[in-house]
Amino acid sequence: MFRTVLVVLCFALGALNAPSALRAADWKAGVARVSITPQEPVCMWGYVGVRFSEGIAHEIHVRALAIEDPAGNRVVIVTSDLAGFEGEMIEPVAARIERRHALQRRQLLFNASHTHTGPLVEHVRRPLEMMYVLDEEQLAGLRRYTRTVQERMARVVSGALADLAPARFSFHRGEAKFAMNRRLPTPEGVKLAPNPEGLVDHGVPVLRVSRKDGGVKAILFSYACHPTTLRGDFHLISGDYPGFAQSDLEAAHSGAVALFMQGCGGDAQPGERGSLDLARRHGGALAAAVSKAMSDGGRPVGGNLDSALAIVPVPFGPAPTRDFLQKRLSAEKDYVRRHAEYSLFRLERDGKLVSHHRLPLQAIRLGSSLTLIALGGEVVADYAVRLRKELAARDRDVWVVGYSNDITTYIPSRRVLQEGGYEPERSMLLVGLPGPFAPEIEEIVVRKIHQLVGQVKEPQR
Ligand SMILES: [Zn+2]
Repeated sequence: MFRTVLVVLCFALGALNAPSALRAADWKAGVARVSITPQEPVCMWGYVGVRFSEGIAHEIHVRALAIEDPAGNRVVIVTSDLAGFEGEMIEPVAARIERRHALQRRQLLFNASHTHTGPLVEHVRRPLEMMYVLDEEQLAGLRRYTRTVQERMARVVSGALADLAPARFSFHRGEAKFAMNRRLPTPEGVKLAPNPEGLVDHGVPVLRVSRKDGGVKAILFSYACHPTTLRGDFHLISGDYPGFAQSDLEAAHSGAVALFMQGCGGDAQPGERGSLDLARRHGGALAAAVSKAMSDGGRPVGGNLDSALAIVPVPFGPAPTRDFLQKRLSAEKDYVRRHAEYSLFRLERDGKLVSHHRLPLQAIRLGSSLTLIALGGEVVADYAVRLRKELAARDRDVWVVGYSNDITTYIPSRRVLQEGGYEPERSMLLVGLPGPFAPEIEEIVVRKIHQLVGQVKEPQR
């Protein structure tokens, strides 16, 4: 039912013509790519309301980059052309990988590009019916597609591990300008609209992985911007701009696998939106920025590999009372009524509303000069700016991405919470959470990240 494309790139070991820069103590890299393009109409994810796909704009994939240091420590980064997933969808995949390859959960990073023209996958924790009301047959299709994605995520990791071979790594930084802040202050509060004055992170971090013969084997890159070039009226499956950027890079660097990670793009969107051609142009601009960044020498990456992961309970603000929710049952807005109905149902069933969100936070030490920090959720730009400022040093680059390991809610900063608007307030109701996070969220997250980074320090010699 699903077409499978497994690309495992290998090369023969040509010891005689190996460049001298590649020594026995160098790292190994392995890559793989597997299609997750649905072969039947699926419910799409990204905009409120049910949309079923009516065809395919281009193939979508899961991709994996496996890295091994000379001591045998391993990390695998899995990227996906999906809007998101819950941790509960990822855990069975991680468990399968753990059994098959003896990798621990902390050694695996799962990132979603957040394409808004990708398929929905099953949710077990978040009430799906808050945004998508599906009948039994549609739910069965959703479960089938979800199982397929899980199986292919496990398969792509096996493929990358089987492909491990000596490689050379370097870190580069580029810039692409098409992202724009999307929180516009107005007299009526912050609106979801382009804000040319707002904070936006235009950075394009790139990890270049070269084969023994010098050719490009893998390109891991990120950008912080909602893949919402295509709007809710577009009913073909696509990866939006990250999909085009990855395929452009794979075409430009023959034999390479290009892996996109969504950065802290919770409050950014493309400045120009609305057509497949624009998505292609943004993807092209991002790919060009990546290629340009890779053309400089970059900073060599090597040393020891380590990773740490924690699930941090992040508190919501004061829970809405029964009275408050009952009044909201007659609210004008449909989603406000639905949220009140759902919350009252939870109050009845559980006696209380959930008080904390379980947020995965991860730090990966990529040798002596680069730390990759991966936060769960739709993280706003403030976190990337702050964490880089606090953790980067002259001899250490810090790369911060969001949308990793669990993507079920926005993660606002203290500033964004104070300002209000869609991300910290309205979106919480749409996904059935009790209400906005408590203002301490930023300090809790930042403190934990500092701790995790401390855990993955250089081993004592
Ligand atoms: Zn989003």
